[in-house]
Amino acid sequence: MSQAEIQFQLDAALARELDRAAELLCGARQVVVLTGAGLSVESGIPPFRGPGGLWTKYGEPPLDGYQRFMRDPAEAWRKMLSPSEPWLRGLHETLGAARPNAGHRALAELERVGRVHCLITQNVDDLHRQAGSRALLEIHGNYALLRCLGCGARFERAGFAVDPERLPPRCPNCGGIVKSDTVSFGEPIPEDVLARCFEAVAGADCMLVAGTSGTVYPAAGFPVEVARSGGRVIEVNLEPSELSALASVQLLGPGGALLTGLLERVRARIAEAA
Ligand SMILES: [Zn+2]
Repeated sequence: MSQAEIQFQLDAALARELDRAAELLCGARQVVVLTGAGLSVESGIPPFRGPGGLWTKYGEPPLDGYQRFMRDPAEAWRKMLSPSEPWLRGLHETLGAARPNAGHRALAELERVGRVHCLITQNVDDLHRQAGSRALLEIHGNYALLRCLGCGARFERAGFAVDPERLPPRCPNCGGIVKSDTVSFGEPIPEDVLARCFEAVAGADCMLVAGTSGTVYPAAGFPVEVARSGGRVIEVNLEPSELSALASVQLLGPGGALLTGLLERVRARIAEAA
């Protein structure tokens, strides 16, 4: 076979898989999406670890970040306001410069046309929100938000007045201590978010997984749960992962192009049915 023939067959196989994925999305009662760091690589956010990773470049955040915060919230806030710690400065600079990519936009549009009911993300980069996703569950929090440890209220970091003379800042609703919404190392996932994740997953008969290899719990358990209860799993990843064995449809390649292709096919099916 010539190189061109091989490419043609690959394209044809991928087109078939995209058609199958679109068919599953359109036939499902409740579709839940699960995304991870791989989806944001095309937005210029490197993975945390490994060559070129954020932690490799700027140093690791403390593995007991939550315990440190709880021991001395005022001191933790002083560090946050004048980030002497390179990993924190590096993280915020990288995230602040990033913009949603075609993959984020396609997922937001799939929600808008009624084919995605809820999106669970492990990313803290705010890009799903910027792309327009509404039914969003950020299990590791969102770096652009602050969270009250008392009542769980979230506040936009940019609009929240912090008096450096009176740290830590307090919640205007309940007086509780306010912390970055990003879940620190050692911090439990906020109960409100986790409860909504379990509820969404329990009701899902289809899960679209994009940009995550399914190794970090609790997120790794979600596709397992959907498959166990008879639902279908669609995987969108650069390479096969630990989730591949569960997947009814596997789409291997860059998330931006694949999710855009998937959206086009879903739109075509919706138009046909109308
Ligand atoms: Zn509060």
